[in-house]
Amino acid sequence: MSKEFEEIFSRLTILEKNEITKSKIETVVDIIPLLLERVSKDNIDELAAILKQSVLPSICSKTDDEIEQVFESIDEDKNLLFDKEIQKKIQRFIEQRFARDKQVVIQRTSDISKFVSLMGQYLNDAITSSGSGSKNVLSIKEKIQSIDLSNDNLLQLSDLQTELINAASSIESEMNTVSNKLQTGKTKVQELEEKVNSLEQELAKTKDESMKDHLTGLLTRRAYNEEIKKIESSYKRHNTQYAVVFFDLDFFKKVNDTYGHECGDVILSTFAKILEKNTRDHDIVGRYGGEEFVAIVHFNLNRELLQYLKRIKTIVTANNFKYKEHEIKVTFSAGVAIRANHESYNSALQKADMLLFEAKENGRNQIKLEDGKTI
Ligand code: GH3
Ligand code: MG
Ligand code: MG
Repeated sequence: MSKEFEEIFSRLTILEKNEITKSKIETVVDIIPLLLERVSKDNIDELAAILKQSVLPSICSKTDDEIEQVFESIDEDKNLLFDKEIQKKIQRFIEQRFARDKQVVIQRTSDISKFVSLMGQYLNDAITSSGSGSKNVLSIKEKIQSIDLSNDNLLQLSDLQTELINAASSIESEMNTVSNKLQTGKTKVQELEEKVNSLEQELAKTKDESMKDHLTGLLTRRAYNEEIKKIESSYKRHNTQYAVVFFDLDFFKKVNDTYGHECGDVILSTFAKILEKNTRDHDIVGRYGGEEFVAIVHFNLNRELLQYLKRIKTIVTANNFKYKEHEIKVTFSAGVAIRANHESYNSALQKADMLLFEAKENGRNQIKLEDGKTI
């Protein structure tokens, strides 16, 4: 075996070395066909296919016309693989492939992070919003929909987009249901509030109506009885002196019989106005029965009480009551009891009633006091 043969043999691959041993090759010339195997058509075809595969971007699906052209020409003449210019081009393609794949990864990452951030916003708005806030949520959903996925065929990303939109839609419909329920509840509460308000108003009106006599506008007997409780407690605490005055119109039946019931009503209401006009704020006056009235008159000195009684008597007797073309004379009788002279309000009231009766017995048109005085 020549030195030259040994030198070449040592540079061969194991497979080639085995082949040489097996085929008992002993000369350099006999090695040549084996070496030519290295650049056999099948090997070069395979190499070209591997090279083409390696320059095509794996993520970015876009193919480049230039790559196609180069490999078409290699297909026609495999020896071009050994051309320096072609090799440089292939090297550039590989660099470009790295760059493109990198670009696609960046783009996808950015799309996903946009989705994540929008979905975060969506959930946040969905949780915190009510009513008008759902408009925001809708606009976020639209934004997710409108993200323009890079023009690669990103099936997985568009699947993710669809899933997010579906999730957003179901959150939205949940929110609508809740918001509708709230709205219905709110309307019901408002309706109830309005009902309560109107009932309260009606109640207040009814209370007011039951407090005031419809013909004269004075306190009704019931309202008067309520008021007297306050006056009594003030009397007991502060000893606020007062008198109970019972008024009854004289021969009122005759007035009705002569001029009619309507005329009687006008006279009752006029008499009531006279009483009311002369009653001070802390005094009260009520219609006790048909043509009977009662007044509680506070006073410090007897003189004040007498003045009040005289004033009423003068007004009534000095004037005629007017009804249509009629001028009618009406008188009244009254009994007056001073609270301080009695154990209780009730006995003072009884006394006033008794004195009124005496005034009637005594000829009417007079006011009887406890001390025997007559006005
Ligand atoms: P006396 O002097 O004894 O009090 O005689 P009188 O006629 O006033 O007394 P009587 O109790 O006999 O009659 C009271 C009359 O008052 C009878 C009733 O028809 C009338 N009257 C009671 N309430 C009203 C009312 O609201 N309107 C009218 N027009 N008359 C009434
Ligand atoms: Mg009477
Ligand atoms: Mg009468």
